[in-house]
Amino acid sequence: MSKSETESVDFVRQIITEDIANKKNGGAVVTRFPPEPNGYLHIGHAKSICLNFGIANDFDGVCHLRFDDTNPEKEDVEYVESIKEDVRWLGFDWGENQFFASDYFEQIYLWAIKMIEEGKAYVCDLTTEEVREYRAGWNKEGKDSPYRDRSVEENLDLFQRMKDGEFKDGEKSLRAKIDMSSPNMNLRDPAMYRIRHQHHHRTGDKWCIYPTYDWTHGQSDSLEKITHSICTLEFENHRPLYDWYIEALGIHHPQQIEFARLNLTHTVMSKRKLLELVQGNYVSGWDDPRMPTISGMRRRGYPAVAIREFCAHIGVTKFNGMTDLALLELYVRNNLNKTANRAMAILDPLKVVIENYDEGKSEMRKAVNNPEDESAGIREMPFSRELYIEREDFMEDPPKKFFRMAPGREVRLKNGFFLKCNDVIKDDDGKVVELRCTYDPETAGGKAPDGRKPSGTIHWVSAAHAIDAEVRVYNVLFEKEKADDVPEGVDWKETINPESLVVMKNAKLEPSLADAAPGACYQFERLGYFCVDNQDSSAGSLVFNRTASLRDNKKKK
Ligand code: ATP
Ligand code: MG
Repeated sequence: MSKSETESVDFVRQIITEDIANKKNGGAVVTRFPPEPNGYLHIGHAKSICLNFGIANDFDGVCHLRFDDTNPEKEDVEYVESIKEDVRWLGFDWGENQFFASDYFEQIYLWAIKMIEEGKAYVCDLTTEEVREYRAGWNKEGKDSPYRDRSVEENLDLFQRMKDGEFKDGEKSLRAKIDMSSPNMNLRDPAMYRIRHQHHHRTGDKWCIYPTYDWTHGQSDSLEKITHSICTLEFENHRPLYDWYIEALGIHHPQQIEFARLNLTHTVMSKRKLLELVQGNYVSGWDDPRMPTISGMRRRGYPAVAIREFCAHIGVTKFNGMTDLALLELYVRNNLNKTANRAMAILDPLKVVIENYDEGKSEMRKAVNNPEDESAGIREMPFSRELYIEREDFMEDPPKKFFRMAPGREVRLKNGFFLKCNDVIKDDDGKVVELRCTYDPETAGGKAPDGRKPSGTIHWVSAAHAIDAEVRVYNVLFEKEKADDVPEGVDWKETINPESLVVMKNAKLEPSLADAAPGACYQFERLGYFCVDNQDSSAGSLVFNRTASLRDNKKKK
């Protein structure tokens, strides 16, 4: 990856530049990307990945991949594998630096004992409900737990018995002894360990007590000698606790820096909500091309470089805001415009018979593969008596501004000839099923010798040579800009756009697409960018996904 992709200097990079100048951490830069393996990564994670790996790249540091797997209930190896695949696909490499918070369970446990010994932690018998009550609210002081002053011996004994499985879930917890009247709720004796008789995807049944996120995260950072622990803004209030634990233990102190998370219009982003979409079969899976997941975007045909450039462009700030989905799509289009070969495809075919073209005859027409890239060369497309055109490109009774096919009109077939519609054939229901046309063989170069102008240019494929395909046309999953902003009593999932997926089962493609490889992207002339589906497509039965329309259509409405 080139440094220019991530060149912009944001406030995080400014802090790091100063730290290096001041020889803090001996000038080293070690960041980490710490996903919880409880779902697939989404475009918000991509922002964090690009930031953390990008910084390591820019400052000749390293970035660790650490699975923050402290919550055994929701975590799974499937997620671990998908996360690795997605980070790699985005173009980043953690080398040997793959870690799991669960690798530190032993050390974190020993540190908990040290905290107890130093009178900085105690075993509490209050229920979750009671803890909440004792904590009180933002504007009200909390109350000390009646178990707060247990002796070190008693705490050590109870903690050992918690670990040995003597108590039921929720019966006891280990809490840090900080300050029940702190204005920062996170410092009101936060939980360090909770009892969970749960199988863990890596440590199996070894533990029935699990450390909380706050009691694990900073200590894991410290163990890995992270220099800059970059997280999203909602952790700003946790920083005093992060610092408190590190100071209490007297260990290497990474600096926590917060930035604003990415929010996109028309998109829900929380993993909990994405899981709901998957489990409720609102989408076909985590990698459904409508999902804002990295795997969904990959399947949809988004190039990794487009996602990286988008992330570099939006940068990082301290203010939460909403980014327009159209901006991401712009980066996708700009990239594909340069790299995707052009092809002709008809999504909703209407048959054309050219009455003055001999039956059984055909000829090859030349077509430019990519006007943006001469090296992509040219290809040949068969032309014959029967063609398919897009049903949309014909109107029997066209309004003034319709410049395509209509009775009596002449249009230009892209890379073909001028074609004139003489007759319209309908079925018993009055549906147009065929156009009878004539072509002008003198217009092979795209111009008529007499200088006459056709009303427009349309695309086509030769019926006899066309290959069949299914084309899945995707639209936004949520039409509302703020996707999950629904009135009370309304389930946000019920607002899913019913046209978020439109399947075109009878698409007809030019024959050069017969052996298009899974994942390959094309610009279907006049229609948009499409890629071969990486799951459901096979040589004999092609499936294409619409990656993006040719331009942002929103303003047209
Ligand atoms: P979600 O809220 O979507 O469930 P999360 O924060 O719980 O996500 P983690 O697996 O804990 O997910 O996130 C890993 C890293 O990615 C964290 O450092 C987190 O701050 C960052 N991250 C998550 N969502 C976003 C986002 N929308 N924008 C930027 N960074 C994000
Ligand atoms: Mg999280």
